[in-house]
Amino acid sequence: MTSQTDTVRMTDAALDYLREHQDQHLAQLDAFLSIPSVSADPERVADVRRTAEWIVDELSRLGIERATLHETSHHPIVTGEWLKAGDGAPTVLVYCHYDVQPADPLEEWIRPPFEPRHENDRVYARGAGDDKGQLFMHLKAVEAWMKTAGRLPVNLRFFFEGDEEVGSEPIEQFISDHAELLQADVCVVSDGDTFDDEGTPAIGHGLRGIAYWEVKVHGPRQDVHSGQYGGGVDNPANVLVRMLASLTDADGRFTVPGFYDDVRELTDDERAAYASLPFDERAWADETGVAQPMQGEAGYTLRERLSARPTFDVNGLWGGYSGEGSKTIIPAWAAAKISTRLVPDQDHRKIERQVVDHLKAIAPPTVRVEVKVIHGGAPALTPLDHPGVAAAARALEAGFGTAPLFQRSGGSVPVVAALDAHLGIKTLMVGFANPTGNFHAPNEWMSLRNIRDGMASLVHLWAELGAMGADELRG
Ligand SMILES: [Zn+2]
Repeated sequence: MTSQTDTVRMTDAALDYLREHQDQHLAQLDAFLSIPSVSADPERVADVRRTAEWIVDELSRLGIERATLHETSHHPIVTGEWLKAGDGAPTVLVYCHYDVQPADPLEEWIRPPFEPRHENDRVYARGAGDDKGQLFMHLKAVEAWMKTAGRLPVNLRFFFEGDEEVGSEPIEQFISDHAELLQADVCVVSDGDTFDDEGTPAIGHGLRGIAYWEVKVHGPRQDVHSGQYGGGVDNPANVLVRMLASLTDADGRFTVPGFYDDVRELTDDERAAYASLPFDERAWADETGVAQPMQGEAGYTLRERLSARPTFDVNGLWGGYSGEGSKTIIPAWAAAKISTRLVPDQDHRKIERQVVDHLKAIAPPTVRVEVKVIHGGAPALTPLDHPGVAAAARALEAGFGTAPLFQRSGGSVPVVAALDAHLGIKTLMVGFANPTGNFHAPNEWMSLRNIRDGMASLVHLWAELGAMGADELRG
């Protein structure tokens, strides 16, 4: 058992190590970012693999055990572990992804995307923020502990994926096949950003799920003349828009029966956390180009509606004639892509069925309706009173010098929902990219400050979590 003063002394030694080796680490980061691990590009398959191998070598060099490259249906997954923190010490799973977005349009990059450029206290390169830079920071925080204390204060397992930017297809299977390599008391995902570019860190503790359908309404055998048949043949496009319009009421609430049954209400703490987030509605509307935010569900603020409430959207709508001029037809069919964003504790499979049944039930007998489920994903939420949240908050405050803000995200991250569903592991999203850092765009960057303060936060985080018992952390 390590005493508290020992932990403080060891943490300081690890932080000193990071300061002393900063130049060396940045040069190594450049080497890592130079490998073009573009998962979407079939010509980069060997580069993606080379990046995975680079990580395996690095984990092994740091003394991480069973560092392994796993073949999958697509790009490799890398795992490794260090489990010598002692009896009752918690185990933390670390997730990042090592693949990157394609770099085009290439001509908009000031320097080529895989030749890192250092300027304005920033590192510019594809993957600098999303997500290779953050993965690298995890490696260096581990190195700092291993090279100074010769050990980690907590058990760590690593889970690094190469398909995040193309939909994470292999992970669900991998998680269910390899529970023994991933089992942990909590997961830390670093694939997000800080709250702002002025050094305010953030902890993400919730994500929305999704359900997605394609609806097709069939009418006459083929397009028919609207002058000859109009008034007698029901128009599939008219029917489709009528059906879709009936799915929301004036407040934007979804009308499918049972849809809200499992929605978990916000707690007072959560509402207070939302209220404490700086948010300028006018600036938000300007940024999107809309005249004003929509009315939305009564009783919820805009910020709450954007991440803690479910939504419904028509994502695409087509059918009939859309060429130049006019063509007087009743189209043979019309179709739409529709989706809902889901929140805890909605079950995407149940919602998928409800919507299929509802659409069939409201279709008039004059048409035939086909509904296909395209894909779905579960929502995830780590309660604000989860003991890991407080530990992460202390670590981020120690690293950045500013207390973090807590946020739920409106989007979905497949790995977070899959870890919860298969292994019951809750996730803390602790991200270090800069919010304006051009991820998925030309001239992606991360600030040296976020790299430095983020690595320091991780050094603190392992000490904070290591000071808790596994039972305590599981909450
Ligand atoms: Zn990412």
